Amino acid sequence: MLEHIVIVGGGGTGGALAHDLTLRGFRVTLFEKGELLSGTTGRHHGLLHSGARYAVNDPTAAVECIEENRVLRKIAPEALEQNDGLFVALDDEDMAFRPLFLEGCRDCGILAQEMTPAAALALEPALHPDLKSAVRVPDATMDAWRLPMHFFATARSNGADIRPFTEVVGFQTLNGGITAVETVDYRTGSRRSYRCDMVVNAAGPWAGQLAALAGLSLPLQPGPGVMVAVEGRVTNMVINRLHPAGEGDIIIPQRRLSLLGTTLWLASDPDVLSPPADQRRRIIDLCGRMVPAVRDAPVRSVWWAVRPLMADGDAKDAQAISRDFGCIDHSERDHLEGLISVIGGKATTLRAMAETAADLICKKTGRSFPCRTRESKLLSYRLFYK
Ligand SMILES: Cc1cc2nc3c(=O)[nH]c(=O)nc-3n(C[C@H](O)[C@H](O)[C@H](O)COP(=O)(O)OP(=O)(O)OC[C@H]3O[C@@H](n4cnc5c(N)ncnc54)[C@H](O)[C@@H]3O)c2cc1C
Repeated sequence: MLEHIVIVGGGGTGGALAHDLTLRGFRVTLFEKGELLSGTTGRHHGLLHSGARYAVNDPTAAVECIEENRVLRKIAPEALEQNDGLFVALDDEDMAFRPLFLEGCRDCGILAQEMTPAAALALEPALHPDLKSAVRVPDATMDAWRLPMHFFATARSNGADIRPFTEVVGFQTLNGGITAVETVDYRTGSRRSYRCDMVVNAAGPWAGQLAALAGLSLPLQPGPGVMVAVEGRVTNMVINRLHPAGEGDIIIPQRRLSLLGTTLWLASDPDVLSPPADQRRRIIDLCGRMVPAVRDAPVRSVWWAVRPLMADGDAKDAQAISRDFGCIDHSERDHLEGLISVIGGKATTLRAMAETAADLICKKTGRSFPCRTRESKLLSYRLFYK
């Protein structure tokens, strides 16, 4: 067995990394302080991004999204509804944005098909009847739980030791390098340390808190957002407003529900949140401009999740923060050997984040195993609990 890599965080990023590293032959132990996916990944609203949402203002993230969109359709089709998406223009401002949007999609390699209002209404009759234009893109619905559970199921069957309800509460160091993690298992109350060769901080919006255990800071800004689920599928395609990414501009059909999203504000602590007032009404109102039927649909639930945005602590404009991801080698940045942090990104780009982190681990351990996760079809999510 090769080096022992500890992953901290059982979200989509940690799960994809466990899969990648076991395929490359590393010994992997993953710790998750709660249930798997109980952080941000299990709560997002399930858009497999085509990248179109970011094509104008965040093209790096857009290209990452479209590349991963294509990969995930091949390796995890069971977790996806391949329903495509429509960006709808409702007013003159949206129409003025349309040429930029089409150009951005073209530059990022995202197929964008212009549609007349009549053609869009024929596909989705619940759209606002006065829409001015629509563009069809390869968005899709993903199941926020099933997709990452494919990665966990495959990683475990390849030998990864996955330990939920176990929090990493400290590090042991020797000669400027991490040698072990200290953990608490909340099922038994037992404390234990695990020796390891390297630790990956994949703790999502909590990554800053984990880094602080080693006396380090990260360029990470928690960015919460509220979502609303209403009864019934008001549309079968993903619906977006044709404007720069903003609030209340996405509707995602999920099984027999429609998920309306979302809002965004900046927080300093992912566990202490105070949502601005009246977000539920605001989201329903904004999404109702695209599909009026959401205003009359019974609300099933309202919840929030916290984005792990890669940004300095003094960022002011949350929407302007890139959805790109980064992988930090703390030996280079902070002179602490044995710790890597992988931050930012989207659930759509979880596999790419894992590939980048695993490539860095290979480089640091002198291994030359190529990544195989682009082509390797994942096991069913169902196998994790068997
Ligand atoms: C409102 C909203 C909507 C979104 N919608 C979409 C969408 O439609 N499509 C999309 O692609 N992306 C979406 N995202 C973004 C996406 O959800 C996140 O980028 C992604 O889920 C982050 O995954 P992660 O694994 O990095 O973090 P997480 O899923 O948060 O995983 C980190 C895990 O680390 C654990 N942890 C933390 N500290 C410790 C510790 N000390 N010991 C052990 N475990 C620890 C946490 O419990 C957590 O489970 C959305 C985000 C939000 C907030």
